[in-house]
Amino acid sequence: MSEEKRKKRVAVIGGGLVGALNACYFSRRKYKVDVYEMRSDIRKAEVVRGRSINLALSVRGREALKRVEMEDEVINKGIRMYSRMIHDRDGTLRVIPYGRKDQYIMSVDRRHLNEVLLTAAEKNPDITLHFEHKLVNCDFNTGEIVFKRSDGTIVKDVVDAIIGCDGAFSAVRNQIMKNTLFNYQQEYIPHGYMELNMPSTPSDECAMAINHLHIWARNEYMMIALPNQDKSFTLTLFMPFKIYDSIKTEDDLIDFFDKNFQDSIPLIGEKELKEMYFKSKALPLISIKCSPYHIGDKALIMGDAAHAIVPFYGQGMNCGFEDCLVLDDLLDKHKDDIGAAFEEYTKVRTVDAHAICDLSMYNYIEMRQSVNSRLFLLRKKVDNF
Ligand code: FAD
Repeated sequence: MSEEKRKKRVAVIGGGLVGALNACYFSRRKYKVDVYEMRSDIRKAEVVRGRSINLALSVRGREALKRVEMEDEVINKGIRMYSRMIHDRDGTLRVIPYGRKDQYIMSVDRRHLNEVLLTAAEKNPDITLHFEHKLVNCDFNTGEIVFKRSDGTIVKDVVDAIIGCDGAFSAVRNQIMKNTLFNYQQEYIPHGYMELNMPSTPSDECAMAINHLHIWARNEYMMIALPNQDKSFTLTLFMPFKIYDSIKTEDDLIDFFDKNFQDSIPLIGEKELKEMYFKSKALPLISIKCSPYHIGDKALIMGDAAHAIVPFYGQGMNCGFEDCLVLDDLLDKHKDDIGAAFEEYTKVRTVDAHAICDLSMYNYIEMRQSVNSRLFLLRKKVDNF
């Protein structure tokens, strides 16, 4: 690699899942990388507020982790889910495998994953992490980026390329929008999500079979559960906001759960369920399609910044990880000509990202409704958890 390329500076905006992984990819190519993250360092935080506690990691994401030698460290702390376990209203359990007997997706802890990726990035002398730096402006002619710190001070930097990995409400994308012929489409679905917890049993066992993604599919809405390392499950309730709004009292809640998710009540605990539900707030789900993803050789958006997708296909993070792999291949192909790689990236990635947005929307119907249809010939009754 030439000396000139060694000196190229890239700013990755956002130190979430995709930003942290992307930094490892760029440093592998001998770029100097600065990661600018709005939040404080999550590795030092007691509680991290935000989205889902655990996520399903699939082959798409694992391939991207593998190239930067991060796969083993991540999957060592993951839990294999070989199938969906459907909880019918009458308590019947049905298993629908994801594929062959040896095929599975993995439940991984979001915070652990983000921490592992940040630590891997930090070990690299070519990567500098800057926390509490919120991007407020960028100039795609000069490469200048401007940040506001939590104490109100302004920090500026000038880089060769700006990589926006700053999530669904991306500030980099907002800037790109003002600077080019940019197509943008967003959709909030009428359903929101709320996370609840099912603890391990008093004898420290899992309350349900561990190696499955559990689904209570009720056609118009659903609840799912993914296992955690500490033998608890994180439950996610997905339903229309109007149903959340109709549950006003503790009795309303227990009536609703009794009718729809009865077998889960003793496993969550009635008192705990009431406490968690009324302390939480249902959060919205957004789907975003846009194009182009780049401006010349100066900026590129990746991950949720480019394609926020509803979570029903379990592919948002996986797809964002794959973005890093695709860009890496294109930088190889174009011998690190950033402009050429960015241009081809937009060309090849837009179609795939838009397809995954549509598939994710469709899969909500599959998860909450189609798994109840007679067409699921693999229906298999199991006797206990
Ligand atoms: P983010 O995780 O949003 O990270 C963006 C980062 O940028 C954040 O750290 C943020 O603080 C920072 N930032 C934002 N603005 C600025 C700024 N102006 N300046 C500096 N920093 C900034 N995906 C899966 O693959 N599998 C799943 O099972 C799955 N389950 C999900 C369940 C739910 C309920 C939800 C909501 C999502 C789920 N996803 C899943 C999707 C997944 O969470 C996202 O696709 C993934 O987090 C995207 O990563 P990202 O790094 O692109 O964005």
